[in-house]
Amino acid sequence: MGYLEQRKFGELERSHAAESLDAITGQTPAPIPADQEAAIVRWLAAIGETDQAIIADVLTTCGHDEGARAYCLGRAGYAAADDLDDRRSCRKCRNLRAGACTVAKPGSAVSATRGYRPAAPEMLRRCDGYAT
Ligand code: SF4
Repeated sequence: MGYLEQRKFGELERSHAAESLDAITGQTPAPIPADQEAAIVRWLAAIGETDQAIIADVLTTCGHDEGARAYCLGRAGYAAADDLDDRRSCRKCRNLRAGACTVAKPGSAVSATRGYRPAAPEMLRRCDGYAT
């Protein structure tokens, strides 16, 4: 099977998977707020993703799956504009230096080994050690 055929087959598989998810969960994709969708689309563009089918697939998945949406928004560095979301990213925390959390130590507000390096510093989270 050639590259284009494989790619088309992959698109069909993804399309079918989304339909199957609808059948299993009984859920239909929920609309993503426009500002969140724009953030995810900007992030995909920034990482070089231009395939409209893949972009649509990511947005559809984010409509089904809150975890996937949180992941993508975290990667996009998205911070909600309202005051209801108190999550922040390590990337914007003053305690992150050279990729390591400077306040992490066992038993502290960030109870982890010294030199802890957050695996996804863009991901939004609640952390007692966050510093502005
Ligand atoms: S204090 Fe919390 S938010 Fe800040 S870098 Fe460490 S783990 Fe991340």
